Amino acid sequence: MSLANKLAEERRARLAAQRLLEQKQAELQAANRKLGKHAMRLSDEIVSTRAEVETVRDENRRVKSDLTVANQKVEIAERRLWHSIQTFQDGFAVFDADSLLIAANHAWLSVFDGLEAVRPGIRYVEILQILTDEGIVDIGETDPAQWRERMLDRWQGNDPSPEVIRLWNGAYIKLIDERGQDGDVVNLALNITDTIRYEKELKEARRRAEDSSRAKSSFLANMSHEIRTPMNGVVGMAELLMETGLTTEQRLYADTIRNSGEALLVIINDVLDYSKIEAGKLVLHQEPFDLERAVLELVMLMQANARSKGLDLLVDYDMFLPSRFTGDPGRIRQVLTNLMGNAMKFTSEGHVLVRVVGMPGDAGDPGKTARLHITVEDTGIGIASDKIQHIFGEFNQVEDAQNRKFEGTGLGLAISKKLVTLMGGDIWVESIEGRGSSFGIALSLPVEAPLDPELLRLPPGIGRALIVEPHDTSRAILEKQLGVLGLETVACASAAEALERLEGVDLVLSDHHMQAMDGMELAEALREGGHEMPVILLSASTGSAEQDPARRFVQAVMQKPVSRPDLFAALQSVAPGVSAKAAEPRTMRVLAAEDNRTNRLVFSKMVQALDIELEFAEDGAQAVALFRSFRPDIVFMDISMPGMDGKEATTRIRDIEDSGDGGHVPVVAMTAHAMDGDEAGILDAGLDHYLTKPLRKDAILSHIRDARPEGVRPPEAEVQSDGGRRNTGLSGEDIAAT
Ligand code: ADP
Repeated sequence: MSLANKLAEERRARLAAQRLLEQKQAELQAANRKLGKHAMRLSDEIVSTRAEVETVRDENRRVKSDLTVANQKVEIAERRLWHSIQTFQDGFAVFDADSLLIAANHAWLSVFDGLEAVRPGIRYVEILQILTDEGIVDIGETDPAQWRERMLDRWQGNDPSPEVIRLWNGAYIKLIDERGQDGDVVNLALNITDTIRYEKELKEARRRAEDSSRAKSSFLANMSHEIRTPMNGVVGMAELLMETGLTTEQRLYADTIRNSGEALLVIINDVLDYSKIEAGKLVLHQEPFDLERAVLELVMLMQANARSKGLDLLVDYDMFLPSRFTGDPGRIRQVLTNLMGNAMKFTSEGHVLVRVVGMPGDAGDPGKTARLHITVEDTGIGIASDKIQHIFGEFNQVEDAQNRKFEGTGLGLAISKKLVTLMGGDIWVESIEGRGSSFGIALSLPVEAPLDPELLRLPPGIGRALIVEPHDTSRAILEKQLGVLGLETVACASAAEALERLEGVDLVLSDHHMQAMDGMELAEALREGGHEMPVILLSASTGSAEQDPARRFVQAVMQKPVSRPDLFAALQSVAPGVSAKAAEPRTMRVLAAEDNRTNRLVFSKMVQALDIELEFAEDGAQAVALFRSFRPDIVFMDISMPGMDGKEATTRIRDIEDSGDGGHVPVVAMTAHAMDGDEAGILDAGLDHYLTKPLRKDAILSHIRDARPEGVRPPEAEVQSDGGRRNTGLSGEDIAAT
């Protein structure tokens, strides 16, 4: 090889070595850089880890100090807790799940009077043993072993019920045990000695109070009886006095005596009823009765008063509702009298309306029960909304200046509520102050007889009726009643309007007393105008209507408020071709047995206006004899008479009837006894009804009226054009005299 070649080769080798060197140096530099970065990261990590360690160390230190503080707090809390528990007057102890005592306060331990054995660690069963062995607990005659067993059973139960034990010193301790989730049991031993003593005292006081309340009730009952008897004389004689020739001044005095006497009787009855209900002594007497008639009779009784106040007294009895139900008519009447009396009392203008409706779902069959709503609505002073919830309470009268002028005991609504509740019903009120009130009662009563569907059938030839009635509410009621019967109605507020709207009218029902042209004048005008359709007159005073010379222009006169039977009868009577009169019927025969001469006089005066035959018996034996010979349609029977009393006489009369001699004649008891127990005894003896003295004319009349057999002349002289079918009619004069 040439030198030049060698040199070139050497140079190439050197260059290659140099390139390798440079490459290695570059690699080394890169590795160095990487190393540097890594070292940097490591040192960063070290710094942060160190900081973290420092934080954790701080936290540890803080936690440690917190723990110390917490421990101190726990100790303090525990000390306080125990301090509190120790100061309890009542015993407190805790047991663990194995029934070993953990701790107990002084009160708990004091029962054991320092006995060494009773300390933490003792078992519950050992405690029971000590209690009986040491005579700490007074278990009376109970066997100690049995007592311990029972107590242990109770303790081991899941949820032990509180137990009262008696200690040797007479103290009563109530044990309450509460088992926690981990099985620990907290035992509280409450000293209830004072409570027990107090309870005993209360019981004793209550017994004494009940005794005295019973004594008071019977005193009230006796007193009412004692007051009623002489009141018979006062009210009855005042009434008779008023029928004699008196000067105006004397009449005023006699009237005042009678009214005051009656007012006093109302109060006595309220007080008596209330005390009877309170004592749970009031019993309901269920019997069949005519609800519709009861409502109408009440309305008739209040009519005179309503008229003198210028109020309209209206009745709206559901057209499809039966009228005979089974219930306590006396008590239902009492409630309605109350509500209607209040409505009249608190209303000075407008109307009072009694509405009787059957609720949907009623079946009109006998044996079925009808749900009835009876409401008494008035347009009176109303009741403020904040007072309204109180008025059914005792002695609660709305206290304000407007109300203060009205008298009353404040017992009426309380009694009504109690009576309705006793009957299983509800009572409520809705009222707007200054506008009026509506009191309602809901009763479920068994239907005694369904409504005769014949009554609802319209006579042929009457399709369209014209109603003439100025009073909006009355007109609306009539329109509704005729509408449900299937009549087309044209309603007018005046006679003048009526004369304009006669087209197609088959029948006119007109109010009697109207301004401008009254009902009679309308009837006359119709006839003069050649209109022959029947006219039925609705009058508040049927007496004056009957006497009016224009009476001949009207076909029937109905007493207002119009009752359904009246309406049905009037509609039938005006039907063409119905006018045949029955043969002249006989008068009713009434027998009254009464030993007291004054009472006989009172009775005869009360019925003197009636078209009846009256016989008196002076004792029971005479009553029985007269029953055979006189054959009365009704008997009024005094109960306490010398010799044979009223109960026995009635039993004899029933015997006569049972031997097949004639039908059942109603016997009405007359007695001074006001208490219910008597009533039951009297009704048991076979008497049908019951009147309390002082007798009231309207009650006697209504019994006589009810007893009239078919085909016998009505006892009231005023016979209506429809052949006397109606029997709502006390005339205005009668009412004024009752
Ligand atoms: P009394 O009428 O004897 O005061 P009640 O118990 O019958 O007692 O009535 C209680 C009170 O309820 C009445 O004093 C009266 O304030 C109020 N009240 C009852 N009915 C009505 C009514 N129809 N309109 C306005 N207030 C009435």
